[in-house]
Amino acid sequence: MSFCIAIDGPAAAGKGTISKAVAKHFGFAHLDTGLLYRATGAKTFEGLTPIEAAESLVAADLDRDDLRSGDAGQAASRVAAVPEVRAALVDFQQAFARREGGAVLDGRDIGTVICPDAEVKLYVIASDEVRAQRRHKELVEKGEDITLEDVLEDLRERDERDAARATAPLKPAEDATVIDTTEMGIEEAVAKVIALIEARRA
Ligand code: C5P
Repeated sequence: MSFCIAIDGPAAAGKGTISKAVAKHFGFAHLDTGLLYRATGAKTFEGLTPIEAAESLVAADLDRDDLRSGDAGQAASRVAAVPEVRAALVDFQQAFARREGGAVLDGRDIGTVICPDAEVKLYVIASDEVRAQRRHKELVEKGEDITLEDVLEDLRERDERDAARATAPLKPAEDATVIDTTEMGIEEAVAKVIALIEARRA
């Protein structure tokens, strides 16, 4: 049986952490769809066009160790605005969403475009400042030399580009439940989401 949980929202709102915890709890597979765009963006550093990069994407591209960098995030958000890039990545995501045994996908357009009939749709948000603090901590722990102001600017720039693009813009599905993690610890957010999913599965 398939069961799709779609988790969308702006950068660093807590989607990834919630998705991983929820997938583990229910024994579902998890796909961080941002990685597909980051890997596509990173391939353009080597001279490929965004469309060539997306069309030639293979699993090994997702193992690059530079995908979490600020540069890869910016490149991801630029290639993600190209309709042919998005089209090249749709089939893989839709097959993942409907795999046997259940799936959690996190991204920007899962509930609106990739899996509009998802059994559960969430839209995770947090204030810009809290998102920037979380991402800054993560990057500094990885050894990146970056200021909090630069992280905040990077997040805002990406969110604006993601929300303004014509194809699959960042926005909540009409039937998504909004979870604001600004003042929530991760355990609280995960518990809330698990309770909500359990109610839908009953
Ligand atoms: O989630 P993450 O921050 O890793 O995503 C990087 C970029 O990839 C986003 O800023 C967005 O432009 C793009 N993306 C997208 N659609 C998705 C997932 C990510 O456009 N489903």
